[in-house]
Amino acid sequence: MNESKIERLVIVGGGTAGWMTAALMAKVLGRAIDIVLVESDKIGSVGVGEATIPPILHFNRALGLDEREFLRETKGTIKLGIQFENWWKTGESYMHAFGTIGKNFPLCDFHHYWRRSQQGATPASLWDYSLNYQAAIHNKFAHLAQIQGTSLPGLTYAYHFDAGLYARFLRRYSERSGVRRIEGTVDHVQRHPDSGHVDSLLLENGERIAGDLFVDCTGMAALLIDKTLGVDYEDWSHWLPCDRAQAVPSAAPRAPAPYTRAIAHAAGWQWQIPLQHRTGNGLVYSSAHYSDEQAREILLSHLPGEALAEPKTIAFRTGRRREPWHKNVISIGLSSGFLEPLESTSIHLIQTAATRLAKLFPHRGIQPEEIAEYNRQSQVEMERIRDFIILHYKANARHDSDFWRACATMDVPDGLREKMALFAKTGKLFRDYDDLFSEAAWQQVLIGQGILPEDYHPLADNLSEQQLAELMQNLKILIDGTVAKLPQHAQFLRAVNGG
Ligand code: FAD
Repeated sequence: MNESKIERLVIVGGGTAGWMTAALMAKVLGRAIDIVLVESDKIGSVGVGEATIPPILHFNRALGLDEREFLRETKGTIKLGIQFENWWKTGESYMHAFGTIGKNFPLCDFHHYWRRSQQGATPASLWDYSLNYQAAIHNKFAHLAQIQGTSLPGLTYAYHFDAGLYARFLRRYSERSGVRRIEGTVDHVQRHPDSGHVDSLLLENGERIAGDLFVDCTGMAALLIDKTLGVDYEDWSHWLPCDRAQAVPSAAPRAPAPYTRAIAHAAGWQWQIPLQHRTGNGLVYSSAHYSDEQAREILLSHLPGEALAEPKTIAFRTGRRREPWHKNVISIGLSSGFLEPLESTSIHLIQTAATRLAKLFPHRGIQPEEIAEYNRQSQVEMERIRDFIILHYKANARHDSDFWRACATMDVPDGLREKMALFAKTGKLFRDYDDLFSEAAWQQVLIGQGILPEDYHPLADNLSEQQLAELMQNLKILIDGTVAKLPQHAQFLRAVNGG
Protein backbone atom coordinates (compact mmCIF):
# COMPACT_ATOMS: atom_id res chain seq x y z
CA MET A 1 0.00 0.00 0.00
CA ASN A 2 0.93 3.61 -0.37
CA GLU A 3 2.32 4.41 3.08
CA SER A 4 3.41 7.92 2.21
CA LYS A 5 1.68 10.89 3.75
CA ILE A 6 -1.00 12.60 1.67
CA GLU A 7 0.20 16.11 1.00
CA ARG A 8 -1.63 16.98 -2.17
CA LEU A 9 -5.22 16.15 -3.07
CA VAL A 10 -6.15 16.62 -6.71
CA ILE A 11 -9.84 16.84 -7.65
CA VAL A 12 -10.51 16.41 -11.36
CA GLY A 13 -13.78 17.99 -12.51
CA GLY A 14 -15.64 21.14 -11.55
CA GLY A 15 -19.30 20.12 -11.69
CA THR A 16 -21.46 19.81 -8.59
CA ALA A 17 -19.39 16.84 -7.43
CA GLY A 18 -16.04 18.55 -7.86
CA TRP A 19 -16.94 21.76 -6.07
CA MET A 20 -18.93 20.11 -3.26
CA THR A 21 -15.96 17.83 -2.60
CA ALA A 22 -13.48 20.71 -2.79
CA ALA A 23 -15.55 22.85 -0.42
CA LEU A 24 -15.91 20.11 2.19
CA MET A 25 -12.27 19.04 1.97
CA ALA A 26 -11.14 22.64 2.36
CA LYS A 27 -13.40 23.03 5.39
CA VAL A 28 -12.31 19.80 7.06
CA LEU A 29 -8.65 19.63 6.13
CA GLY A 30 -8.06 23.36 6.14
CA ARG A 31 -4.70 24.30 4.78
CA ALA A 32 -3.07 21.18 6.25
CA ILE A 33 -2.88 19.77 2.74
CA ASP A 34 -2.67 21.31 -0.68
CA ILE A 35 -5.98 20.99 -2.58
CA VAL A 36 -6.05 21.49 -6.34
CA LEU A 37 -9.12 21.30 -8.60
CA VAL A 38 -8.75 20.91 -12.37
CA GLU A 39 -11.73 21.64 -14.57
CA SER A 40 -12.23 22.06 -18.26
CA ASP A 41 -14.37 24.93 -19.53
CA LYS A 42 -14.11 23.30 -22.94
CA ILE A 43 -15.85 20.11 -21.76
CA GLY A 44 -18.29 21.77 -19.35
CA SER A 45 -20.55 19.95 -16.89
CA VAL A 46 -23.68 17.84 -17.29
CA GLY A 47 -25.79 20.90 -16.45
CA VAL A 48 -28.68 19.16 -14.66
CA GLY A 49 -29.31 18.25 -11.03
CA GLU A 50 -31.51 20.84 -9.43
CA ALA A 51 -33.59 19.04 -6.80
CA THR A 52 -32.25 17.93 -3.44
CA ILE A 53 -33.40 16.20 -0.25
CA PRO A 54 -33.33 17.51 3.34
CA PRO A 55 -29.80 16.39 4.37
CA ILE A 56 -28.41 19.08 2.02
CA LEU A 57 -29.13 21.49 4.88
CA HIS A 58 -26.52 19.69 6.99
CA PHE A 59 -23.97 20.00 4.21
CA ASN A 60 -24.55 23.73 3.76
CA ARG A 61 -24.50 24.25 7.53
CA ALA A 62 -21.28 22.27 7.89
CA LEU A 63 -19.71 24.69 5.42
CA GLY A 64 -21.18 27.60 7.36
CA LEU A 65 -23.17 28.92 4.36
CA ASP A 66 -25.78 31.56 5.00
CA GLU A 67 -29.14 30.23 3.77
CA ARG A 68 -30.43 33.53 2.41
CA GLU A 69 -27.23 34.22 0.51
CA PHE A 70 -27.24 30.65 -0.81
CA LEU A 71 -30.85 30.94 -2.02
CA ARG A 72 -30.18 34.32 -3.64
CA GLU A 73 -27.00 33.16 -5.34
CA THR A 74 -28.42 29.88 -6.67
CA LYS A 75 -31.93 31.24 -7.50
CA GLY A 76 -33.11 28.56 -5.12
CA THR A 77 -36.58 27.68 -3.89
CA ILE A 78 -37.92 25.47 -1.11
CA LYS A 79 -38.81 21.82 -1.66
CA LEU A 80 -41.24 20.08 0.72
CA GLY A 81 -41.64 16.87 -1.25
CA ILE A 82 -42.14 15.26 -4.65
CA GLN A 83 -45.56 14.97 -6.24
CA PHE A 84 -45.86 11.70 -8.20
CA GLU A 85 -48.52 11.93 -10.88
CA ASN A 86 -49.82 9.00 -12.97
CA TRP A 87 -47.43 6.52 -11.31
CA TRP A 88 -49.80 4.08 -9.76
CA LYS A 89 -52.56 4.70 -12.31
CA THR A 90 -53.14 7.42 -14.87
CA GLY A 91 -55.01 10.27 -13.20
CA GLU A 92 -53.90 9.33 -9.66
CA SER A 93 -51.27 11.21 -7.72
CA TYR A 94 -49.61 11.25 -4.32
CA MET A 95 -46.72 13.02 -2.69
CA HIS A 96 -43.59 11.78 -1.04
CA ALA A 97 -43.71 14.60 1.48
CA PHE A 98 -40.63 15.05 3.66
CA GLY A 99 -40.91 14.78 7.42
CA THR A 100 -43.26 12.71 9.51
CA ILE A 101 -46.95 11.97 9.25
CA GLY A 102 -49.44 12.30 12.10
CA LYS A 103 -48.10 11.36 15.50
CA ASN A 104 -46.12 8.24 16.25
CA PHE A 105 -46.75 6.13 19.33
CA PRO A 106 -44.19 3.87 20.97
CA LEU A 107 -44.12 0.55 19.09
CA CYS A 108 -46.83 1.57 16.64
CA ASP A 109 -46.44 3.88 13.67
CA PHE A 110 -49.20 6.37 12.90
CA HIS A 111 -50.23 4.73 9.64
CA HIS A 112 -51.63 1.77 11.59
CA TYR A 113 -54.10 4.14 13.34
CA TRP A 114 -54.84 5.75 10.01
CA ARG A 115 -55.46 2.34 8.44
CA ARG A 116 -57.88 1.45 11.19
CA SER A 117 -59.64 4.81 10.83
CA GLN A 118 -60.13 4.00 7.15
CA GLN A 119 -62.87 1.60 8.19
CA GLY A 120 -64.94 4.55 9.49
CA ALA A 121 -67.70 6.31 7.60
CA THR A 122 -65.54 9.14 6.21
CA PRO A 123 -62.07 7.78 5.54
CA ALA A 124 -59.46 10.50 5.25
CA SER A 125 -56.34 10.49 3.13
CA LEU A 126 -53.01 9.69 4.83
CA TRP A 127 -51.76 13.03 3.51
CA ASP A 128 -54.39 14.93 5.52
CA TYR A 129 -52.00 14.27 8.41
CA SER A 130 -48.83 15.43 6.68
CA LEU A 131 -47.92 19.01 7.53
CA ASN A 132 -45.42 19.07 4.67
CA TYR A 133 -48.00 17.93 2.14
CA GLN A 134 -50.62 20.42 3.27
CA ALA A 135 -48.11 23.28 3.23
CA ALA A 136 -46.84 22.20 -0.21
CA ILE A 137 -50.22 22.09 -1.95
CA HIS A 138 -51.17 25.44 -0.43
CA ASN A 139 -47.85 26.95 -1.62
CA LYS A 140 -46.86 27.87 1.93
CA PHE A 141 -43.52 27.94 3.69
CA ALA A 142 -41.76 29.37 6.74
CA HIS A 143 -39.09 27.98 9.00
CA LEU A 144 -41.02 25.97 11.55
CA ALA A 145 -39.23 23.66 13.99
CA GLN A 146 -42.37 22.44 15.76
CA ILE A 147 -46.12 22.75 15.54
CA GLN A 148 -46.87 25.43 18.10
CA GLY A 149 -47.87 24.23 21.55
CA THR A 150 -47.04 20.57 20.76
CA SER A 151 -44.03 18.32 20.53
CA LEU A 152 -44.92 17.50 16.90
CA PRO A 153 -42.22 18.34 14.35
CA GLY A 154 -42.67 21.30 12.02
CA LEU A 155 -41.66 21.50 8.36
CA THR A 156 -38.83 19.43 6.91
CA TYR A 157 -37.44 20.88 3.71
CA ALA A 158 -34.79 20.75 1.02
CA TYR A 159 -34.02 23.03 -1.93
CA HIS A 160 -34.38 23.34 -5.65
CA PHE A 161 -31.50 25.33 -7.12
CA ASP A 162 -29.60 26.10 -10.28
CA ALA A 163 -26.80 23.50 -10.23
CA GLY A 164 -24.43 25.67 -12.29
CA LEU A 165 -24.88 28.58 -9.89
CA TYR A 166 -24.40 26.27 -6.89
CA ALA A 167 -21.10 25.03 -8.34
CA ARG A 168 -19.97 28.65 -8.87
CA PHE A 169 -21.04 29.59 -5.35
CA LEU A 170 -19.02 26.70 -3.91
CA ARG A 171 -16.11 27.55 -6.17
CA ARG A 172 -15.90 31.02 -4.61
CA TYR A 173 -16.16 29.46 -1.15
CA SER A 174 -13.45 26.88 -1.94
CA GLU A 175 -11.05 29.39 -3.46
CA ARG A 176 -11.45 31.62 -0.41
CA SER A 177 -10.64 28.55 1.70
CA GLY A 178 -7.40 27.88 -0.17
CA VAL A 179 -8.37 25.53 -3.01
CA ARG A 180 -6.32 26.24 -6.14
CA ARG A 181 -8.31 25.99 -9.38
CA ILE A 182 -6.57 25.08 -12.62
CA GLU A 183 -8.41 25.49 -15.89
CA GLY A 184 -7.49 22.87 -18.47
CA THR A 185 -8.36 19.59 -20.09
CA VAL A 186 -6.62 16.45 -18.89
CA ASP A 187 -5.09 14.81 -21.91
CA HIS A 188 -3.05 12.04 -20.37
CA VAL A 189 -2.86 10.30 -17.01
CA GLN A 190 0.49 9.04 -15.78
CA ARG A 191 0.63 6.00 -13.47
CA HIS A 192 3.33 4.72 -11.17
CA PRO A 193 4.98 1.76 -12.94
CA ASP A 194 4.98 -0.48 -9.84
CA SER A 195 1.91 0.40 -7.78
CA GLY A 196 -0.33 1.42 -10.69
CA HIS A 197 -1.37 4.47 -8.65
CA VAL A 198 -2.11 7.66 -10.51
CA ASP A 199 0.98 9.84 -10.34
CA SER A 200 0.12 12.92 -12.32
CA LEU A 201 -2.13 14.46 -14.94
CA LEU A 202 -0.91 15.99 -18.16
CA LEU A 203 -3.04 18.86 -19.44
CA GLU A 204 -3.51 19.75 -23.10
CA ASN A 205 -1.43 22.89 -22.56
CA GLY A 206 1.51 20.75 -21.39
CA GLU A 207 1.14 21.49 -17.68
CA ARG A 208 1.74 18.52 -15.39
CA ILE A 209 -0.17 18.18 -12.11
CA ALA A 210 1.18 15.67 -9.62
CA GLY A 211 -0.70 14.47 -6.55
CA ASP A 212 -0.87 11.84 -3.81
CA LEU A 213 -4.63 11.24 -3.81
CA PHE A 214 -7.00 11.90 -6.72
CA VAL A 215 -10.76 12.42 -6.68
CA ASP A 216 -12.41 11.60 -9.97
CA CYS A 217 -15.29 14.06 -10.42
CA THR A 218 -15.19 13.95 -14.21
CA GLY A 219 -18.85 12.95 -14.48
CA MET A 220 -19.83 10.29 -16.97
CA ALA A 221 -16.38 10.48 -18.58
CA ALA A 222 -15.01 8.71 -15.44
CA LEU A 223 -11.56 9.59 -16.66
CA LEU A 224 -9.54 8.14 -13.78
CA ILE A 225 -11.70 5.40 -12.26
CA ASP A 226 -12.78 3.89 -15.56
CA LYS A 227 -10.63 5.05 -18.48
CA THR A 228 -7.38 4.90 -16.46
CA LEU A 229 -7.92 2.23 -13.79
CA GLY A 230 -10.63 0.22 -15.58
CA VAL A 231 -12.78 -0.34 -12.49
CA ASP A 232 -15.83 -2.40 -13.32
CA TYR A 233 -19.42 -1.07 -13.42
CA GLU A 234 -22.42 -3.02 -12.09
CA ASP A 235 -25.36 -2.47 -14.40
CA TRP A 236 -28.83 -2.10 -12.86
CA SER A 237 -30.76 -1.30 -16.01
CA HIS A 238 -32.77 -4.54 -15.77
CA TRP A 239 -34.47 -2.97 -12.73
CA LEU A 240 -34.41 0.66 -13.78
CA PRO A 241 -35.17 0.63 -17.49
CA CYS A 242 -34.77 4.34 -18.34
CA ASP A 243 -31.47 5.12 -20.04
CA ARG A 244 -31.87 8.61 -21.54
CA ALA A 245 -33.06 12.05 -20.59
CA GLN A 246 -33.79 15.30 -22.33
CA ALA A 247 -33.66 18.50 -20.32
CA VAL A 248 -34.93 21.98 -21.13
CA PRO A 249 -35.57 25.12 -19.08
CA SER A 250 -38.88 26.95 -19.40
CA ALA A 251 -40.04 30.42 -18.37
CA ALA A 252 -40.10 31.32 -14.68
CA PRO A 253 -43.21 30.27 -12.78
CA ARG A 254 -45.22 33.22 -11.41
CA ALA A 255 -45.33 31.65 -7.94
CA PRO A 256 -42.86 28.74 -7.68
CA ALA A 257 -44.45 25.73 -6.01
CA PRO A 258 -42.47 24.37 -3.03
CA TYR A 259 -42.31 20.86 -4.44
CA THR A 260 -41.00 18.89 -7.42
CA ARG A 261 -43.41 17.28 -9.87
CA ALA A 262 -42.62 13.83 -11.30
CA ILE A 263 -45.20 13.05 -13.97
CA ALA A 264 -45.25 9.57 -15.47
CA HIS A 265 -45.75 9.10 -19.21
CA ALA A 266 -46.16 5.94 -21.28
CA ALA A 267 -42.42 5.06 -21.24
CA GLY A 268 -40.79 7.30 -18.68
CA TRP A 269 -41.47 10.36 -16.61
CA GLN A 270 -41.06 14.09 -16.62
CA TRP A 271 -39.69 16.37 -13.92
CA GLN A 272 -40.70 19.95 -13.23
CA ILE A 273 -38.50 21.85 -10.82
CA PRO A 274 -39.56 25.43 -10.07
CA LEU A 275 -36.68 27.86 -9.51
CA GLN A 276 -36.82 31.61 -8.99
CA HIS A 277 -35.77 32.47 -12.55
CA ARG A 278 -37.01 29.47 -14.56
CA THR A 279 -38.51 26.00 -14.34
CA GLY A 280 -36.16 23.06 -14.85
CA ASN A 281 -37.80 20.34 -16.96
CA GLY A 282 -36.77 17.01 -18.28
CA LEU A 283 -38.03 13.71 -19.55
CA VAL A 284 -36.37 10.51 -18.36
CA TYR A 285 -37.21 7.65 -20.72
CA SER A 286 -36.44 4.23 -22.05
CA SER A 287 -34.83 4.32 -25.49
CA ALA A 288 -36.31 0.87 -26.16
CA HIS A 289 -39.77 2.46 -26.05
CA TYR A 290 -39.36 6.11 -27.13
CA SER A 291 -37.22 7.47 -29.94
CA ASP A 292 -35.39 10.72 -29.14
CA GLU A 293 -37.78 12.56 -31.44
CA GLN A 294 -40.85 11.18 -29.63
CA ALA A 295 -39.34 12.06 -26.27
CA ARG A 296 -38.59 15.58 -27.45
CA GLU A 297 -42.18 16.08 -28.59
CA ILE A 298 -43.62 14.74 -25.34
CA LEU A 299 -41.35 16.97 -23.30
CA LEU A 300 -42.00 20.12 -25.30
CA SER A 301 -45.76 19.58 -25.35
CA HIS A 302 -45.93 19.22 -21.55
CA LEU A 303 -43.98 22.27 -20.40
CA PRO A 304 -45.45 24.61 -17.79
CA GLY A 305 -44.21 27.66 -19.76
CA GLU A 306 -42.37 28.73 -22.89
CA ALA A 307 -39.20 26.71 -23.65
CA LEU A 308 -36.07 28.83 -23.20
CA ALA A 309 -33.66 26.60 -25.13
CA GLU A 310 -33.43 23.51 -27.29
CA PRO A 311 -33.70 20.26 -25.27
CA LYS A 312 -30.37 18.67 -24.43
CA THR A 313 -30.11 14.86 -24.60
CA ILE A 314 -28.18 12.91 -21.98
CA ALA A 315 -27.56 9.16 -22.22
CA PHE A 316 -26.90 7.26 -18.99
CA ARG A 317 -26.43 3.79 -17.62
CA THR A 318 -27.95 3.04 -14.23
CA GLY A 319 -25.63 1.25 -11.87
CA ARG A 320 -22.65 1.65 -9.60
CA ARG A 321 -18.91 1.50 -9.74
CA ARG A 322 -17.93 -1.75 -8.00
CA GLU A 323 -15.02 -0.12 -6.22
CA PRO A 324 -15.61 3.62 -6.06
CA TRP A 325 -12.26 3.89 -4.24
CA HIS A 326 -9.51 2.02 -6.08
CA LYS A 327 -5.78 2.49 -5.45
CA ASN A 328 -5.33 6.25 -4.91
CA VAL A 329 -8.46 7.30 -6.83
CA ILE A 330 -11.87 7.96 -5.29
CA SER A 331 -14.73 8.51 -7.71
CA ILE A 332 -17.45 10.92 -6.54
CA GLY A 333 -20.52 12.03 -8.49
CA LEU A 334 -21.55 10.60 -11.84
CA SER A 335 -18.19 8.84 -12.27
CA SER A 336 -19.10 6.60 -9.29
CA GLY A 337 -22.46 5.48 -10.64
CA PHE A 338 -25.90 6.81 -11.39
CA LEU A 339 -29.42 6.36 -10.13
CA GLU A 340 -32.00 8.26 -12.09
CA PRO A 341 -33.20 11.50 -10.51
CA LEU A 342 -36.64 10.27 -9.41
CA GLU A 343 -35.94 10.79 -5.71
CA SER A 344 -33.27 13.48 -6.19
CA THR A 345 -30.53 11.41 -4.61
CA SER A 346 -27.42 12.09 -6.73
CA ILE A 347 -26.37 15.33 -5.07
CA HIS A 348 -27.00 13.63 -1.76
CA LEU A 349 -24.69 10.79 -2.80
CA ILE A 350 -21.99 13.37 -3.55
CA GLN A 351 -22.50 14.82 -0.09
CA THR A 352 -22.24 11.45 1.65
CA ALA A 353 -19.27 10.34 -0.47
CA ALA A 354 -17.35 13.54 0.31
CA THR A 355 -18.25 13.20 3.99
CA ARG A 356 -17.16 9.56 3.98
CA LEU A 357 -13.86 10.51 2.40
CA ALA A 358 -13.36 13.21 5.02
CA LYS A 359 -14.01 10.68 7.78
CA LEU A 360 -11.75 8.02 6.28
CA PHE A 361 -9.16 10.44 4.97
CA PRO A 362 -5.85 8.56 4.71
CA HIS A 363 -3.62 11.21 6.29
CA ARG A 364 -0.70 8.88 6.92
CA GLY A 365 -0.95 6.89 3.73
CA ILE A 366 -3.64 4.77 2.13
CA GLN A 367 -4.63 1.66 4.11
CA PRO A 368 -6.55 -1.24 2.52
CA GLU A 369 -8.96 -1.25 5.48
CA GLU A 370 -9.96 2.34 4.71
CA ILE A 371 -10.62 1.49 1.10
CA ALA A 372 -12.66 -1.59 2.02
CA GLU A 373 -14.81 0.32 4.51
CA TYR A 374 -15.38 3.17 2.11
CA ASN A 375 -16.46 0.80 -0.63
CA ARG A 376 -18.66 -1.26 1.69
CA GLN A 377 -20.56 1.80 2.91
CA SER A 378 -20.95 3.14 -0.62
CA GLN A 379 -22.39 -0.15 -1.86
CA VAL A 380 -24.99 -0.50 0.91
CA GLU A 381 -26.07 3.12 0.52
CA MET A 382 -26.55 2.84 -3.24
CA GLU A 383 -28.42 -0.46 -3.00
CA ARG A 384 -30.92 0.87 -0.47
CA ILE A 385 -31.68 3.92 -2.62
CA ARG A 386 -31.89 1.73 -5.73
CA ASP A 387 -34.58 -0.43 -4.10
CA PHE A 388 -36.63 2.60 -3.08
CA ILE A 389 -36.56 3.88 -6.65
CA ILE A 390 -37.42 0.46 -8.11
CA LEU A 391 -40.55 0.40 -5.91
CA HIS A 392 -41.99 3.35 -7.88
CA TYR A 393 -41.76 1.37 -11.11
CA LYS A 394 -42.71 -2.05 -9.80
CA ALA A 395 -45.84 -1.13 -7.86
CA ASN A 396 -47.91 0.17 -10.74
CA ALA A 397 -51.36 -0.73 -11.96
CA ARG A 398 -50.99 0.93 -15.34
CA HIS A 399 -51.81 -1.42 -18.16
CA ASP A 400 -51.57 1.16 -20.90
CA SER A 401 -48.08 0.47 -22.25
CA ASP A 402 -45.49 -2.27 -22.68
CA PHE A 403 -43.13 -0.24 -20.53
CA TRP A 404 -45.38 -0.20 -17.46
CA ARG A 405 -46.52 -3.79 -17.95
CA ALA A 406 -42.89 -4.91 -18.04
CA CYS A 407 -42.13 -2.94 -14.86
CA ALA A 408 -45.10 -4.46 -13.02
CA THR A 409 -44.03 -8.02 -13.84
CA MET A 410 -40.25 -7.69 -13.38
CA ASP A 411 -38.37 -9.47 -10.61
CA VAL A 412 -37.06 -7.09 -7.99
CA PRO A 413 -34.22 -7.50 -5.45
CA ASP A 414 -35.15 -9.89 -2.60
CA GLY A 415 -35.07 -7.27 0.15
CA LEU A 416 -37.55 -5.09 -1.70
CA ARG A 417 -39.83 -7.99 -2.57
CA GLU A 418 -39.95 -9.03 1.09
CA LYS A 419 -40.58 -5.48 2.29
CA MET A 420 -43.47 -5.04 -0.14
CA ALA A 421 -45.03 -8.37 0.82
CA LEU A 422 -44.78 -7.75 4.57
CA PHE A 423 -46.32 -4.31 4.22
CA ALA A 424 -49.13 -5.49 1.95
CA LYS A 425 -50.18 -8.20 4.40
CA THR A 426 -49.57 -6.58 7.78
CA GLY A 427 -48.81 -2.87 7.36
CA LYS A 428 -45.52 -3.53 9.15
CA LEU A 429 -42.46 -1.82 7.80
CA PHE A 430 -38.91 -1.64 9.04
CA ARG A 431 -36.28 0.83 8.06
CA ASP A 432 -32.88 -0.72 7.57
CA TYR A 433 -30.54 1.13 9.93
CA ASP A 434 -28.50 2.51 7.06
CA ASP A 435 -31.43 3.37 4.79
CA LEU A 436 -31.57 7.00 3.70
CA PHE A 437 -35.35 6.91 3.48
CA SER A 438 -37.51 7.01 6.60
CA GLU A 439 -40.49 4.79 7.39
CA ALA A 440 -42.79 7.70 6.49
CA ALA A 441 -41.13 7.93 3.05
CA TRP A 442 -41.59 4.20 2.38
CA GLN A 443 -45.18 4.26 3.67
CA GLN A 444 -46.13 7.12 1.37
CA VAL A 445 -44.68 5.51 -1.72
CA LEU A 446 -46.12 2.09 -0.89
CA ILE A 447 -49.60 3.46 -0.19
CA GLY A 448 -49.39 6.03 -2.97
CA GLN A 449 -48.54 3.26 -5.42
CA GLY A 450 -51.62 1.31 -4.39
CA ILE A 451 -50.26 -1.08 -1.75
CA LEU A 452 -52.83 -0.62 0.97
CA PRO A 453 -52.08 -2.96 3.89
CA GLU A 454 -54.66 -5.67 4.51
CA ASP A 455 -54.19 -5.37 8.27
CA TYR A 456 -52.90 -2.98 10.93
CA HIS A 457 -50.98 -3.45 14.16
CA PRO A 458 -53.17 -4.68 17.07
CA LEU A 459 -51.90 -1.81 19.24
CA ALA A 460 -54.01 0.52 17.13
CA ASP A 461 -57.04 -1.22 18.67
CA ASN A 462 -56.09 0.06 22.13
CA LEU A 463 -58.01 3.26 21.45
CA SER A 464 -61.79 3.24 21.53
CA GLU A 465 -63.60 4.28 18.36
CA GLN A 466 -64.28 7.67 19.87
CA GLN A 467 -60.66 8.15 21.00
CA LEU A 468 -59.46 7.24 17.54
CA ALA A 469 -61.89 9.65 15.87
CA GLU A 470 -60.78 12.42 18.25
CA LEU A 471 -57.10 11.70 17.64
CA MET A 472 -57.54 11.94 13.89
CA GLN A 473 -59.72 15.01 14.08
CA ASN A 474 -57.43 16.85 16.49
CA LEU A 475 -54.38 16.16 14.35
CA LYS A 476 -56.15 17.46 11.29
CA ILE A 477 -57.28 20.61 13.09
CA LEU A 478 -53.70 21.19 14.29
CA ILE A 479 -52.21 20.72 10.83
CA ASP A 480 -54.83 22.78 9.00
CA GLY A 481 -54.57 25.56 11.58
CA THR A 482 -50.77 25.60 11.31
CA VAL A 483 -50.83 25.72 7.51
CA ALA A 484 -53.43 28.52 7.54
CA LYS A 485 -51.02 30.71 9.50
CA LEU A 486 -47.98 30.05 7.31
CA PRO A 487 -46.93 32.69 4.76
CA GLN A 488 -46.88 31.97 1.05
CA HIS A 489 -43.69 30.42 -0.33
CA ALA A 490 -43.42 33.40 -2.73
CA GLN A 491 -43.45 35.74 0.28
CA PHE A 492 -40.62 33.76 1.88
CA LEU A 493 -38.62 34.09 -1.34
CA ARG A 494 -39.28 37.83 -1.53
CA ALA A 495 -37.90 38.18 2.00
CA VAL A 496 -34.81 36.17 1.00
CA ASN A 497 -34.24 38.66 -1.80
CA GLY A 498 -34.64 41.60 0.57
CA GLY A 499 -38.21 42.39 -0.58
P1 FAD B 1 -20.42 16.87 -14.29
O1 FAD B 1 -21.37 17.92 -13.90
O2 FAD B 1 -20.57 16.32 -15.66
O3 FAD B 1 -18.97 17.46 -14.15
C1 FAD B 1 -17.84 16.84 -14.71
C2 FAD B 1 -16.68 17.79 -14.64
O4 FAD B 1 -15.51 17.11 -15.05
C3 FAD B 1 -16.82 19.02 -15.50
O5 FAD B 1 -16.32 20.15 -14.82
C4 FAD B 1 -15.92 18.69 -16.68
O6 FAD B 1 -15.42 19.84 -17.31
C5 FAD B 1 -14.83 17.91 -15.98
N1 FAD B 1 -14.05 17.06 -16.88
C6 FAD B 1 -14.47 15.97 -17.58
N2 FAD B 1 -13.46 15.46 -18.31
C7 FAD B 1 -12.38 16.25 -18.06
C8 FAD B 1 -11.05 16.26 -18.53
N3 FAD B 1 -10.58 15.37 -19.42
N4 FAD B 1 -10.23 17.23 -18.08
C9 FAD B 1 -10.65 18.16 -17.19
N5 FAD B 1 -11.91 18.20 -16.70
C10 FAD B 1 -12.75 17.26 -17.15
N6 FAD B 1 -29.11 14.97 -9.04
C11 FAD B 1 -29.86 15.44 -8.04
O7 FAD B 1 -29.45 15.35 -6.88
N7 FAD B 1 -31.08 16.00 -8.29
C12 FAD B 1 -31.60 16.06 -9.52
O8 FAD B 1 -32.68 16.61 -9.70
C13 FAD B 1 -30.85 15.50 -10.60
N8 FAD B 1 -31.34 15.48 -11.86
C14 FAD B 1 -30.61 14.86 -12.85
C15 FAD B 1 -31.15 14.67 -14.11
C16 FAD B 1 -30.44 13.98 -15.09
C17 FAD B 1 -31.05 13.76 -16.43
C18 FAD B 1 -29.14 13.52 -14.83
C19 FAD B 1 -28.34 12.82 -15.88
C20 FAD B 1 -28.59 13.71 -13.59
C21 FAD B 1 -29.32 14.34 -12.59
N9 FAD B 1 -28.80 14.48 -11.31
C22 FAD B 1 -29.57 14.98 -10.30
C23 FAD B 1 -27.42 14.10 -11.05
C24 FAD B 1 -26.56 15.36 -11.01
O9 FAD B 1 -26.69 16.05 -12.22
C25 FAD B 1 -25.10 14.99 -10.80
O10 FAD B 1 -25.01 14.15 -9.69
C26 FAD B 1 -24.30 16.22 -10.50
O11 FAD B 1 -24.51 17.19 -11.46
C27 FAD B 1 -22.84 15.88 -10.41
O12 FAD B 1 -22.29 15.72 -11.66
P2 FAD B 1 -20.71 15.56 -11.74
O13 FAD B 1 -20.10 16.74 -11.05
O14 FAD B 1 -20.37 14.21 -11.28
O15 FAD B 1 -20.44 15.63 -13.31
